[in-house]
Amino acid sequence: MAYNVTLIPGDGIGTEISEATRRVLEATGVEFNWDVQQAGEEVMPQYGTPMPDHVLDSIRRNKVAIKGPLTTPIGTGFRSVNVALRMALDLYANLRPAKTYRGIQSRYQAIDLVVVRENTEGMYSGIEAAEGSPEVQAFMELIQERLGRKVRPDSAISVKTISITGSRRIVKFAFDYARANKRRKVTAVHKANIMKFTDGLFLEVAREVAKEYPDIEFGDLIVDNCCMQLVQKPELYDVLVMPNLYGDIISDLCAGLVGGLGVAPGANIGEMGALFEPVHGSAPKYKGMNKANPTAMILSGVMMLRYLGEMDAAARLERAVAEVIAEGKDVTYDLKPDRNDPTAASTSAMGDAIIRKLEKIKVG
Ligand code: NAD
Repeated sequence: MAYNVTLIPGDGIGTEISEATRRVLEATGVEFNWDVQQAGEEVMPQYGTPMPDHVLDSIRRNKVAIKGPLTTPIGTGFRSVNVALRMALDLYANLRPAKTYRGIQSRYQAIDLVVVRENTEGMYSGIEAAEGSPEVQAFMELIQERLGRKVRPDSAISVKTISITGSRRIVKFAFDYARANKRRKVTAVHKANIMKFTDGLFLEVAREVAKEYPDIEFGDLIVDNCCMQLVQKPELYDVLVMPNLYGDIISDLCAGLVGGLGVAPGANIGEMGALFEPVHGSAPKYKGMNKANPTAMILSGVMMLRYLGEMDAAARLERAVAEVIAEGKDVTYDLKPDRNDPTAASTSAMGDAIIRKLEKIKVG
């Protein structure tokens, strides 16, 4: 049976790493009907929006999607399509594992962490009012009237929202993931000492949910301390669950522990389906150079295979990637001891090397 999967190649380095990912996924022997959909800045002139309805409809129909990164203009311009996709499809759980593969240059060894990031609320609510706008004025008046607090008149305002519903489902997701994957501990990461109502609520709900999982250890950590602890004693942690913005930052930190963004995969999972994508962005400076590391997106493909129940293909593909990395020959520049190594493989050549390995690995 062939799986119907939406493929959003993305922009920047997205096109190249998506092509390598598509080829290695097909080389596992699993069959796919790719429903290729374009989104982002490049489709703006044609559709007047970076996220046309037909892209969302495709994901709703297929229930499984894999995407390359999409560029978001900084400060001004359209809002992130990546965030909008997760919101529109209510893909509330952003699962970002960080695992050391042998042969990767890193200051750390044997890292095995999983960040579970809430994807639909927190600082990413998208409720914002620009400096000088009538909306920001109305917000300020309300704050003064109801809370007796004065906001500097030349301010902009972003609203952070945290709900019981959103917190409960993400913490449950983290515990269910821990149980299903035989992990020992879940740590809730927050800033409840300062944001007593929002992060305080997240922590309170996390403590309640933890009682439903007596077989799994539970702890909590303030986010700034979490950064230091992860750098100094990462072995003390296992599954980490946290609100949106902290998850975005901590997952990049964890990627740094295992050798960089080039090897950090991710999944966005909800009730309606799942969208798989690397943690990294579109790295525009490498666009069109066939130079970027396809591993993060290929490992996102491994996560997709597991989600589809293709455990054997997932294990074979992960092993093929691990062997290519361990040998250290056909890897991209970022996985070489010297990043200027002229023998570094291109994006497509690393994909080819993984396909050759796959052909030799019979059963996972
Ligand atoms: P980035 O992740 O694109 O790049 C950060 C650094 O990591 C750069 O030095 C880059 O060269 C390197 N890097 C990233 N991926 C790599 C790979 N596969 N191989 C080798 N090196 C790699 O982050 P940025 O520069 O902050 O963002 C660029 C754009 O990507 C922005 O528009 C941002 O909004 C967008 N972005 C998109 C997503 C997404 O699509 N989910 C995620 C993050 C950022």
